[in-house]
This record gives sequence, C-alpha cells and structure tokens, in this order.
Amino acid sequence: MTLSPQALEFAQTLVRMNTVSQNSNLELIHFIRDHLARLGVKSRLTFNDSKTKANLFATLGEGKPAGIILSGHTDTVPWDGQDWSMDPLSALVKDGPEGPSLYGRGSADMKAFIGIAVSHAEQFLNSEAPFAIHLAFSYDEEVGCFGVKELIADLRDANIQPLACIVGEPTSMVPAIAHKGVYRYKCCVRGKEAHSSLTPHSVNAIEMAARVVGRLRDMGEGFEREEPRFEGFDVPFSTTSVGQFHGGIADNVVPRDAEFRYEFRDLPTANAAQMQSEVVAYAKSLEPAMKKVAPAAGFEFETICEIPSFLGSKDDPVTRLAQELTGEQGTTLVAFGTEAGLFKNAGISTVVCGPGSIRQAHQPDEYVSLAQLARCEAFMQGLARTRSIDWPPA
Ligand SMILES: [Zn+2]
Repeated sequence: MTLSPQALEFAQTLVRMNTVSQNSNLELIHFIRDHLARLGVKSRLTFNDSKTKANLFATLGEGKPAGIILSGHTDTVPWDGQDWSMDPLSALVKDGPEGPSLYGRGSADMKAFIGIAVSHAEQFLNSEAPFAIHLAFSYDEEVGCFGVKELIADLRDANIQPLACIVGEPTSMVPAIAHKGVYRYKCCVRGKEAHSSLTPHSVNAIEMAARVVGRLRDMGEGFEREEPRFEGFDVPFSTTSVGQFHGGIADNVVPRDAEFRYEFRDLPTANAAQMQSEVVAYAKSLEPAMKKVAPAAGFEFETICEIPSFLGSKDDPVTRLAQELTGEQGTTLVAFGTEAGLFKNAGISTVVCGPGSIRQAHQPDEYVSLAQLARCEAFMQGLARTRSIDWPPA
C-alpha cells in the first residue's frame, strides 16, 4: 500500500490552515467547497451565529437511493505552551517513531482523514457503487460538538436521510463501536457574605458548593461500586470529576460566591441526563435553608457541553463494511468522545474508523504515519469500488 501524492497534498494543505476552534474555519471550508464545485458538486454550508465558522455537507452521487457519510471535524485544539520541535502548521513529512509521517496540529485529529476523503471526491463521483457518498465536515467539535448538531438538524430539515456514517477519528484504522459520553456543567453558587465571626447571618457559598461536590464524589464511588461493567473500556464504569473550583476572597470573610465545573463520562449503557438531574435535585434540596438567610442565595447550573455516548454494533452493516475495507477482523472501543453518538441518535448507523492514533492527538509534534494514510487511502478506494452493500436502503 502506498500513498498517492495527491492524497498527501490534500492532507498537507488542510494541516497548513489554522483552524484552532476559536478561529474561523472558513478558509478550509471554502477550499473544499471550491474543489467540489470544480467537479460540479454543490455544498450545503451551515454557519454558526456569527457566520465565522461553517459545516460543509456535500453529496457525491446525487440521486442514488442511499448514502454513506464520511464525517470529520475541521477544528483542532490549540498548541499554546506546548513544546513543538517544528511549526505546528508546517505539515512537514519526516521520519518518526512509526516511519515517515506527516507532522502538524490536526494531522492525526483529523485533517488527514478529511483530506484523503476529499482527494477521492472524483472517484466517489464516478463510482458505480449503489450508494452515494456524503461528505460531512463540522466546526467546533473540540469544544463540545456544537457544529455537527447544526449539520444534523439541517439534514433533517432538508429531508436528507443517509444510511450510515463513518466518523474518521483516529482509531489506527480499526473500526470502533463504542465510546462514553462527555457531559460538562458549571455550577455557580450564590451565598451571602458576612464577617467570619457572624456565620449564622451568612450563607457560605464554598461550603454549599462543597456539599454538591461531595455528592458528585459519592455518585462516582457508587458507579465504581455498583454499575454493571462495560468490558473493553480502560475504566469500565461511568465516572464523575470536578475539574475546577473557585471561591472566596479572604480568610475572615464568609464567601458569597463559589463556582465549580464538573463532568460525567457515562457508559453507553448509562444515562448522563439522569446523573445531572440527580445533582440538580440535590442542590435544590439545599436551597430552602440558604434562602431563609438570604432570599437571593441558591445554585445556578450551566451546560458546557453534552456529547452523547456512542454504541454501535459489530453486526451493524456499516461496521462490517469498515472491517472489509480495512481488512480488520475485530472492533475496538475508544476512550474519547466523538460526533458518532449524535449521528447514531439521529437514526444513522455509525462506526468510528480513521488513520492515526489518539495518543498523538492534542500532543506536541502531533503526527500520523504515511503507512496509516496509505491504509486510509486504500479504504477510500475500496469504498469507491464497492458494488453492493448487504443492507437495503433505508
Ligand atoms: Zn477529533
């Protein structure tokens, strides 16, 4: 398996574009839109509120009865403070731990997959496969999967019903059929300040926050003790974690404000919405006593992100297709969140499969080996050559 110069060139071009989540991704989206336009393919763009970022959705093989989505996110994490030995936007090809590799931010996570998919647009267009290929590239995945929700809503509104979805996150080209969800929240606690000698006349925001934090800890220990195991994950039960806690201004002032942020990583068989309801209900149970002292005291919750867990199946036709195209017999689970759960929840059978390893993602000197890219290219070529799929169009 060798990698074609065109596929590598596309991957490099995308890596050279700075699409850190906080920035616009329009340079990249327009580049892909223009490439597809030259092939006569129209792209659907859906924008964020300020129109600085867009999702792109395009269909190669319009009119065919069903379609398979190749999905990727266009944004990357930043590299501030990381110790890189090269420019993260250089898209350098050089020898690495896994042989010749493409270096740069987003090389593994996940611009190479997008570049290689786009570089095969013409083959998909000319393919005699009985299904269309949809390209679905989103913004703001790394900060909470916000873009793809708009993209999926647009498909629903336009009555586009894809059959299946392949999310090209780095799994070393092994089809992945499950991951946990990531649900993050912020809780602001309002109390009432007082001189610390007069605590009965105050509401201590830190202490109230700490009770909820303690509840989160208890829930986490409960999952570890009692939750039915989901074998295959490094941590085979749901977890809770408080990541930040701020509050207080001085030793002798009862704090009026406290704030903490926490997350649930729920098993595909668990229910994060229920976990969050339990936390909110517990906080609400503390409020009457707080409000007796200060009517304005209480808890406020804010959602930071809700990325649902994903549970596919090894028997899903799209999983079997991914196995066939990669030559992999087995499947795997991944520890990170992806957009897969959102596609699955929209009724689209989904698998996660892409080049490179999550171990290189978000790291300094991020890379993906050319051998992995060659496997990804073989995957795309196999997909274009596929003549039948063993499940009927939806
Ligand atoms: Zn990613």
